Amino acid sequence: MRVVVTGGAGFIGSNLCERLIERGDEVVCVDDFSSGVLDNVRHLTESPRFSISRQDISAGLTVDGHVDAVAHLASPASPPDYLRRPLETLAVGSRGTENALELAFRNGARFIISSTSEVYGDPLAHPQRESDWGNVNPIGPRSVYDEAKRYAEALTMAYRRTKGVNTGIVRVFNTYGVRMRADDGRVVSNFITQALAGKALSIYGSGEQTRSFCYVDDLVGGLLAMLGSDEPGPVNFGNPEERTVTELADLVCRIVGSDAAVEYHALPQDDPTRRCPDISLAGRLFGWAPRVGIEEGLRRTTAWFAAQPEPDTAAQLC
Ligand code: UDP
Repeated sequence: MRVVVTGGAGFIGSNLCERLIERGDEVVCVDDFSSGVLDNVRHLTESPRFSISRQDISAGLTVDGHVDAVAHLASPASPPDYLRRPLETLAVGSRGTENALELAFRNGARFIISSTSEVYGDPLAHPQRESDWGNVNPIGPRSVYDEAKRYAEALTMAYRRTKGVNTGIVRVFNTYGVRMRADDGRVVSNFITQALAGKALSIYGSGEQTRSFCYVDDLVGGLLAMLGSDEPGPVNFGNPEERTVTELADLVCRIVGSDAAVEYHALPQDDPTRRCPDISLAGRLFGWAPRVGIEEGLRRTTAWFAAQPEPDTAAQLC
């Protein structure tokens, strides 16, 4: 297959590009490098089946030659990233998604979009099922991401219904692993870089809020399953092992072998109190289930961060 990956130089995008190249596909990695990093994909440029196209897909998206599939992943995704660039986040969720859908339409290509557990907002039901409508503050600071993704889902379904595009919506729950940016401000990257530097771990709020952390290789397996199917979704992909932020801090300290203290900071506005995916649909459709537990995943991620030159340990507070 010839696959266009928007956001292909980002954290999840670059892991997807790598797996597509490994299995023999041709990949066009589209990125504007606003949050993606060339180093994430430099090793792939050795393959004649891999190319990079620098484009801001909110302004337009042109890819020469036939395209079999579009994996639309482009967006700022960590809270500090999207809070820093609210208008760009809305633009890529709306105009960027439209341009990616048009590319799929012109080519008769399969289209998948990485949506997010954020569409559930501060969830009213637990664990979150695809049939839940979500509880989102449409005017809060986080809405630039949540509502952009909700609009992107609506647009995707409209293209499916009116233009017959073979679309699939993936709802990605908190994902971590190799090639996260040390400075992206997410809890896993913050805790690991802080623990490695012997600095206090920054807990926002009481630390009693929960998240369910999925290792990136597992998520990419889900994306490939969706890409290879005609399933419209939405389908949740995540690891239902739910942890409080405090439990995560303890785990990271244990794995890094650090006795770093914790430091409490204000909880960001509209920060969801609980999050855990119901993944029974992914299991029924694809036999998909995550394989990498949190301890193993954190070990791999810690080893990767430790091997990076001069990690940026700046915790970016919301
Ligand atoms: N968080 C934290 N310390 C940090 C970064 C995040 O306690 O240094 C909290 C954050 O408030 C949230 C959870 O960890 O409750 C997950 O945050 P993250 O930004 O990783 O993902 P998201 O909020 O998008 O789920």
